[in-house]
Amino acid sequence: MHERLAIDGGAPIRDTLLPYGRQVIDEADIEAVVSVLRSVWVTTGPMVEAFERAFAGFVGAEHAVSVSSGTAALHTAMAALGVGPGDEVIVPPITFAATANAVVFQGGTPVFADVDPDTLLLDPAEVERLITPRTRAVVAVDYAGQPCDYAALRQIAARHGAVLVADACHALGAEDRGRRAGTLADLNVFSFHPVKHLTTGEGGMITTSSAEYAERMRRFRNHCITRDHHERTAHGAWRYEITGLGWNYRLTDIQCALGGSQLTKVDGWLQRRREIARRYLAALATIPGAEPLRHRDGVLHAYHLFVIRVDPGCLDAHRDAVFAALRAEGIGVNVHYEPVHLHPLYRERFGTRPGLCPKAEAAAERILSLPMFAGMSDRDVQDVIAALEKVCHALAARVMS
Ligand SMILES: *Cc1c(COP(=O)(O)O)cnc(C)c1O
Repeated sequence: MHERLAIDGGAPIRDTLLPYGRQVIDEADIEAVVSVLRSVWVTTGPMVEAFERAFAGFVGAEHAVSVSSGTAALHTAMAALGVGPGDEVIVPPITFAATANAVVFQGGTPVFADVDPDTLLLDPAEVERLITPRTRAVVAVDYAGQPCDYAALRQIAARHGAVLVADACHALGAEDRGRRAGTLADLNVFSFHPVKHLTTGEGGMITTSSAEYAERMRRFRNHCITRDHHERTAHGAWRYEITGLGWNYRLTDIQCALGGSQLTKVDGWLQRRREIARRYLAALATIPGAEPLRHRDGVLHAYHLFVIRVDPGCLDAHRDAVFAALRAEGIGVNVHYEPVHLHPLYRERFGTRPGLCPKAEAAAERILSLPMFAGMSDRDVQDVIAALEKVCHALAARVMS
């Protein structure tokens, strides 16, 4: 018969919980941070521009603007587009709330468009259905790390005079037909939270080919001050002007030094993530009741997340029971995400309700993120697969009996 599950009192696969994501930091990273701490500039210094230039080079973008978080990056993008009251911005519901919150920060209205149920990426047909003359922008989320259908989205946005934004927080290093995330939309947003591909502790970046947007975003992150301190020194003047309501969203030199050091290792980390994904995919071929999301053709996946869908017809259990069983085995599975429009903030402020995005809502009941990070050992990967096999076979057997 089947091994007794840990949740039923059996021995767990692991004694300590394997997290779903975690940073990798080495001595070179620590050295880079310490050298900034010993220098004159800990913020607004030379490391900021150096990191921005290296990041722009990595993704192949002309401009990169660093900010203090991915959330700040989304807010800065919305501000640069002039999103304000009366403007609509189309967003998918399967994302971290910050994607939609950034629209709300600016007084705009998020409009939730449903996703493709097999990829959980924004469905261009839904965008076409919901776009209006009030639509200022479309924000596409490269869920789990695969780029959306930007060719289709760009056409729709252009036809309606809307700007295309990529929330590429999952997609650093992803490619669509050889073009890297960071170059696929007009504005492209990244996060450097510790579970993402590289970390600065907290941090974010926006890439663009537009010098004008880049300039607006640099001002917005610095109180909308027209002249930065370098220019003021050059002019020997103390004067500056506040031209709008900006924020202090600056990323420090300490963080940028860490980011620059991390960036040199991202290609290797991406290879490791893809290797882990290959092992998961091979194992899933024979595990009942758990299937991966569909890969888009021509796309190189960055695997921020590895998401499976639990099939309740095949297992005698809802996703939540599979989640609890895997957690009991010591596997730190997670759910990304509760659909944003179902959070009380959106229900109360915008009147959103279940039924608004039926495909996203149905998928959200079935998804589970497996541990996925570059620092996972082969043993960690084996543990995840062993726990999935153990749990899914046991739950599938209950359906048979
Ligand atoms: C992480 C993330 C954000 C927010 O980034 P922070 O750096 O945590 O503020 C926004 N959108 C998506 C899709 C993310 O994964």
